[in-house]
Amino acid sequence: MICPPSVPTCRRPGPNPASVHRDQFDFRCLERRLYRARFMEGQPQGPPNSAAMENGTEPDGEERPPGFQETTITEGAARIVFPNANEVFYNPVQEFNRDLTCAVITEFARIQLAAKGIQIKVPGEKDVQKVVVDLSEPKEDKAELKEGANLALEDQPRTAAVGEICEEGLRVLEGLAASGLRSIRFAREVPGLRSVVANDASARAVDLMRRNVQLNEVAHLVQPSQADARMLMYQHQKASERFDVIDLDPYGSPASFLDAAVQAVSEGGLLCVTCTDMAVLAGNSGETCYSKYGAMALKSRACHEMALRTVLHSLDLRANCYQRFVVPLLSISADFYVRVFVRVFTGQAKVKASASKQALVFQCVGCGAFHLQRLGKASAASGGRLKFSAACGPPVAPECEHCGQRHQLGGPMWAEPLHDLEFVGRVLEAVSANPGRFHTAERIRGVLSVITEELPDVPLYYTLDQLSSTIHCNTPSLLQLRSALLHAGFRVSLSHACKNAVKTDAPSSTLWDIMRCWEKECPVKRERLSESSPAFRILSVEPRLQANFTIRDDANPSSRQRGLKRFQANPEANWGPRPRARPGGKAAGETVEERRRLLQNKRKEPVEDPAERAAWLKTFPCKRFKEGTCQQGHQCCYSHSPPSPKATAEATPTDCPEAPSQNPAEPGAATGPGTE
Ligand SMILES: [Zn+2]
Ligand SMILES: [Zn+2]
Repeated sequence: MICPPSVPTCRRPGPNPASVHRDQFDFRCLERRLYRARFMEGQPQGPPNSAAMENGTEPDGEERPPGFQETTITEGAARIVFPNANEVFYNPVQEFNRDLTCAVITEFARIQLAAKGIQIKVPGEKDVQKVVVDLSEPKEDKAELKEGANLALEDQPRTAAVGEICEEGLRVLEGLAASGLRSIRFAREVPGLRSVVANDASARAVDLMRRNVQLNEVAHLVQPSQADARMLMYQHQKASERFDVIDLDPYGSPASFLDAAVQAVSEGGLLCVTCTDMAVLAGNSGETCYSKYGAMALKSRACHEMALRTVLHSLDLRANCYQRFVVPLLSISADFYVRVFVRVFTGQAKVKASASKQALVFQCVGCGAFHLQRLGKASAASGGRLKFSAACGPPVAPECEHCGQRHQLGGPMWAEPLHDLEFVGRVLEAVSANPGRFHTAERIRGVLSVITEELPDVPLYYTLDQLSSTIHCNTPSLLQLRSALLHAGFRVSLSHACKNAVKTDAPSSTLWDIMRCWEKECPVKRERLSESSPAFRILSVEPRLQANFTIRDDANPSSRQRGLKRFQANPEANWGPRPRARPGGKAAGETVEERRRLLQNKRKEPVEDPAERAAWLKTFPCKRFKEGTCQQGHQCCYSHSPPSPKATAEATPTDCPEAPSQNPAEPGAATGPGTE
């Protein structure tokens, strides 16, 4: 744990020892310590030897770190000092995550405190007192008049404002607080809090936190704590000592903290968990995903939603060990991470239902068709009770009914709704009515709007380009495909987790029938297809329905019509998760840049899977088509789409060769490096 004084990048004699300030310690030593303390998971951590730390890192008056500078950033209502050289302390891309978390905890506090007769005062919202006055005005109807009169008779309604201690308010724990930014924002922006414990395993991080707490004048609310987050949470298992809100925002996987977290959150309390290990969750190594989350991840077009469901499965399973279970409030896939907000409840009887809430996924390797297999069966019995039994399966034959290929097995994953739509509606309403409260309010509004449109009872989705590239045909516009599904009597929605998602309750057989009809409008040359290919097998069957691609008004989702900011463009060059602090000789910034460039380039390489590769090629405009010399027609592997995205709405299948395909942006435009 001691930073060896002989390491040249660690300390260097400074020219002017008199000017060295106590705060100017070397942050690269801190990086190393953070790395060891927080990220060497699974290793027992001895008691922190703070004396050794002090001796090892603090400038002793003779030495000064090279080129050391501090930076102050402002985010929300917080001002944070952090060391320049150490990027792990601040990732501006995560501002959306922090804004959203403040918005979610605010609504959670509003609900929890309303039950205790306390109204919260949210900055920017209409004054609570004024609402009461309005109620007693003569223009209101009798019932409200009465209510107003009653309120007037009582003492002034109790309120809770930001920055104040609310004795009956929420006890919050931020387990991995680093600079303390999140905790300080809670204290300054979320009303109705009793206390915020900002914990980190690193003594240096806690020092930094103390300074930031002072700087923001929230010492009465925010208590810095230095402990292993797990030990701290295990010490708060007793019902009277639990936290009402636990926020875990680790670098990488939170898996090793979840067992402690599900026990330390109060009854009905809120657990907020970020996972940035998207490569693992999105199926790059299913076996690693299993070891962390108890579920096999699949490489799938729906991998971002599957990541959310994998994390929810893991949380519920761990809660089940202690007769508890989770109820998701909001599950978000954004940028390079997933974030879930769940409430945790206790109930031996209700825990029995958990098996039937999880499902295995059978996904065809040829055409991507997927089928869910619940792990258990819960059926209604007399007296409104549930009867539990074994599930029957499998839902698929050994070979795919559409293309004859085999299936891969993923999961188990959470197969119940990802969100509590009533709660999401509250957050959406509050943020929309008070857009000045958060810097990223516009994006929160866009993402939550799409979420309210998602089919809540239909797990996973297909993508537009996946369907067309599998049979090597032209891509219908999103509106055409959605219209065809609606005409056929099914429901369809987008997903916030994927730009061109087709989430539908139509069975895969109907989807392929619709695509067969689409292909008839602009036929694929059969001689170009191998007889064993999924495309050949699918297209050799006659469709059992007549698809109607005429655009319907209700095919265009409201969030799309209103032009809400639903999917984030890359916010900055070479963006993504900040790498873990790491030991080593190179300057941190340089290494970070190199690594990101590497990742960025890696992403742009064509994928191995032929269908994915075809879809990838289709995203590039055909140069010959532009010059009018392309002889390939719709067989061309490049896109012949005109650049205007507006044209997609008017397109009909009859003008097929020129039919503009929905032009998905460059693969991964909505995601970060290493997410797929
Ligand atoms: Zn198949
Ligand atoms: Zn072409």
